[in-house]
Amino acid sequence: MNNIVVYCEANGNAIAEVSLELLTKARSLAAQLNTQVEGILIGDDLKGLENQLYAHGANIVHKAEDPRLVHYQTLPHAKIVCDIIEKEMPQIGLFGATPVGRDLAPRVASKLKSGLTADCTSLEIGEHYDKKTDTKYENLLYQIRPAFGGNIVATIINPDTRPQLATVREGVMKREEINPPAKGKVKNWKVDELLSKEDFIVEIIDRHIEEKKVNIKNSGIIVAGGYGVGSKENFDLLFQLADVLGGEVGGTRAAVDAGFIDHDRQIGQTGVTVRPKLYIACGISGQIQHRAGMMESSMIIAINTDSKAPINSIADYVITGDFEEIVPKLINYYKKNSK
Ligand code: FAD
Repeated sequence: MNNIVVYCEANGNAIAEVSLELLTKARSLAAQLNTQVEGILIGDDLKGLENQLYAHGANIVHKAEDPRLVHYQTLPHAKIVCDIIEKEMPQIGLFGATPVGRDLAPRVASKLKSGLTADCTSLEIGEHYDKKTDTKYENLLYQIRPAFGGNIVATIINPDTRPQLATVREGVMKREEINPPAKGKVKNWKVDELLSKEDFIVEIIDRHIEEKKVNIKNSGIIVAGGYGVGSKENFDLLFQLADVLGGEVGGTRAAVDAGFIDHDRQIGQTGVTVRPKLYIACGISGQIQHRAGMMESSMIIAINTDSKAPINSIADYVITGDFEEIVPKLINYYKKNSK
């Protein structure tokens, strides 16, 4: 009762990264609320997957297993999630802002008539005082996200409806296992009792999944370029630097829009969220939408001709100058000095 529930996406015999990140976050929220974490797992042949959820803090795992649920489908999954939530009455429900979560969460919110905040960048517990009704609300979920084109950071609350629902993109929250894992238990749901033939009205005829070509999210070193890099050809310098450092190349939306670099390398609010050990920002001004995706990097080096570029305010080291002069020097230095 009034726990925090996380919808966990199962991909074969692995749980999606974002679900494990959300369980980690749910664990810290639950500690503040003095409550527990529950995971929802829907699919086929989910044997043993609950252990990954326990390792990230789930105390209860709701399982709905059926061969017909092997691939995500809107109607049956939404029906099962709604039924579980209606019966278990959690106070908070979290979904990954993945194609599945983005399809599922709004339907669940609509059916349960509760609020939903998409693409949160932070989740906290707090209170609210409503002057009009002289009501004080405690232990609300602060659903924090950029709004109005990133010009403000909004804190959104649902004082009167439950559950409070939110989606969060992969990489925004940190994933941490607990040792020893939570002592959890599985609650099996009988799919035949939850679903009818009509819920399977859509038939999946074929599935095609494109593998990710780049994996900047998990790279320890990222050399990122912005509009100031000037051209696709100039990005070659950044690829060379990334190569000698054993890192990956990322870019800003302005660089992507200009065709300098592919969209799957975009970092920021509408791209990937990264937290590498080292982030080298070349020709990047550092607007809030870009910073949202990289400001948790352990060390940031900014290379910019403008000594007052906003990126400098979050950088550990600032190099003021033309990246075309500085990056070749870095490449030469690291070529000579790295083993
Ligand atoms: P600019 O702001 O044009 O900066 C270029 C920088 O290069 C300048 O600081 C300049 O001094 C420097 N420079 C120029 N020449 C050189 C040189 N030779 N050597 C060194 N420095 C040089 N942006 C993202 O990045 N990611 C997102 O996910 C994202 N999502 C967005 C979502 C919304 C809803 C909106 C409205 C915007 C979003 N943006 C995003 C865009 C963001 O607002 C900025 O426009 C963008 O980040 C700017 O990119 P930039 O720093 O490459 O370009």
